[in-house]
Amino acid sequence: MMVGVRWIYRFIPVPVLVCAVMPDRFDALALGVAVLVRPGSRDDEALIAHELVHCRQFYRSFGLNALRYWLSRDFRYQAELEAVREQLRINPAARSAAIQMLLTAYDLGVSRRQVENDL
Ligand SMILES: [Zn+2]
Repeated sequence: MMVGVRWIYRFIPVPVLVCAVMPDRFDALALGVAVLVRPGSRDDEALIAHELVHCRQFYRSFGLNALRYWLSRDFRYQAELEAVREQLRINPAARSAAIQMLLTAYDLGVSRRQVENDL
């Protein structure tokens, strides 16, 4: 089910779709050109903003970010930091949950101290 369309770079439409099927540890996913969000998180604008950062990363790298994200922990960490910063700009109260995600959900191999310093 479509929640709506968001725009990145003012002219690229990104469909936001409600979808219950995704890895357990995530409430939303970016698939390059689209965002999937669990039904219970469909109104989480900060989370959707996080995923839209990943869509921007996709377009500005001509899709190569997906490969680099998969191959490189450091690239993945930088990509997630950028997305989490945007998420926390909208919802600062999500900080501790976001830190926990960075420590557990992306195989980043970073310490809590490093994450707290970098955010
Ligand atoms: Zn992310």
